[in-house]
Amino acid sequence: MQGHSAEFSRRLGDRGWLGMTWPRRYGGAGRSPRERFTVVEELLAAGAPIAAHWIADRQTGPLLLRVGTERQKRAFLPEIARGRLFVAAGLSEADSGSDLASVRTRATPTATGWRVSRRKVWTSHAHRSHYLLALVRTAPREGDRHTGLSQLLIRLDAPGVHVRPIEVMTGEAHFTEVTLDDVDVPADMVVGTVGDGWRGVLAELAFERSGPERYLSTFPLLAELTSGQVGQDTAALVDIGSATARLWALRMLSLRVQDLLEWGKPTDTAAALVKDVGTRLEGEIVDIARRAGGPAASGALAGLLRDAQLAAPSFTLRGGTNEILRGLVARGLEV
Ligand SMILES: Cc1cc2nc3c(=O)[nH]c(=O)nc-3n(C[C@H](O)[C@H](O)[C@H](O)COP(=O)(O)OP(=O)(O)OC[C@H]3O[C@@H](n4cnc5c(N)ncnc54)[C@H](O)[C@@H]3O)c2cc1C
Repeated sequence: MQGHSAEFSRRLGDRGWLGMTWPRRYGGAGRSPRERFTVVEELLAAGAPIAAHWIADRQTGPLLLRVGTERQKRAFLPEIARGRLFVAAGLSEADSGSDLASVRTRATPTATGWRVSRRKVWTSHAHRSHYLLALVRTAPREGDRHTGLSQLLIRLDAPGVHVRPIEVMTGEAHFTEVTLDDVDVPADMVVGTVGDGWRGVLAELAFERSGPERYLSTFPLLAELTSGQVGQDTAALVDIGSATARLWALRMLSLRVQDLLEWGKPTDTAAALVKDVGTRLEGEIVDIARRAGGPAASGALAGLLRDAQLAAPSFTLRGGTNEILRGLVARGLEV
C-alpha cells in the first residue's frame, strides 16, 4: 500500500479508475460506489503501488465535491481523476496527533488571503505531492476548541514550504515533516467555510477510516498462506479459516459504511469500528503467518512476512489510533 508510482497512478487515471464516482463534468467516471470499491479492493489485494493518488482520490476529491467552490472543483477534480495531481494530508503535528483540535499551525489574514506558519509531521508522501491539505487555526482558541479551524490547500512548491523526508524502520522514507515558514496562501484556497474546518476533517477521516485498506494491508500474506505452498497443521488451518471469515464480515461492514457515506448519513461511529476491528485483524494475520510459517518461512511467504512485521506497528496508528477510535465508538453508542 505504501508503494508509490506516479506512472502507475497516471495509468489508472487514463483508464478512468480514479475519481470513479465523481460526476463526468468534473472529470469523474460517473460510476457507482460499489464499482469503485471493487477496483480499490482488487488493487489492494494485489499489493499495487497506489500511494501517489491515494489521499487525493480517497479524501480530498470527495471533500471538494461536498464543500469546495465551483472553481476549486473545476481546477482540482479533473487533474486528480487523471492521476496528475497528488495531495498530502496535513493534519498531525508534534503534540497534536490524536488530539487534532489542538493544532497550532496558524493562519493569519493578509490582504490577499492567509499567511501560514509552523510545522506538520508524519505527512505521508509530501515530498512527492503537489498540494498539502492542511488543518490550521484561523481564529484564536477560545471556548469550543473545534471552532476557528480551517482547511487550506497549500502548494508544496510555494516559497516558505520546506519538506524533509523521515526514514522509517523499513528503510523507506514515505513520511515527511513539512515546515511552513510564513507561507502565503490565496483566499480562494480555503476548503469549506473559514472557521468550520473541523466538520470537513470529520468527513475526511470517515473516508480514511472505513475503506478496504483498513483490513487488506496484509491480505497478500493471508493469500500466500492459502496458496497450498505452506505446510499447515490443523491449528494453522483453524486460524486461517477464522481470519478469512472475519475478513468477509469486515468487508460487509465496510461496504455498508460506503453506502452510508454515499447517502450523506453519519458514519463516524461505524467508520471508527471498521478501523479498530480491521487493523487488529491485519495484525493478527501477521501473527498467524508467523505461527504457520515461523522462522522456517521461505520464498514469497518469508518476504511478505518480513515486510508485514516491519509495517505492523503502524496499522493501529495511521488514520487515528485505536484507543481514540474506541472512545468515538463509546460516545456514538452513548455509553
Ligand atoms: C503509516 C502512517 C501514516 C501517517 N500518515 C499521516 C498523514 O499523511 N498525515 C497526517 O496528518 N498524519 C499521518 N499520520 C499520523 C497519525 O495520524 C498519528 O500518528 C496518529 O493520529 C497518532 O498521533 P501521535 O502519533 O501524535 O500519537 P499521540 O496522539 O501522541 O498518542 C500516543 C498514544 O497515546 C494514546 N492517546 C492519546 N490521547 C489519548 C486519549 N485521550 N485517550 C486514550 N489514549 C490516548 C494514543 O492512542 C497513542 O497510543 C500517519 C501515521 C502513520 C503511522
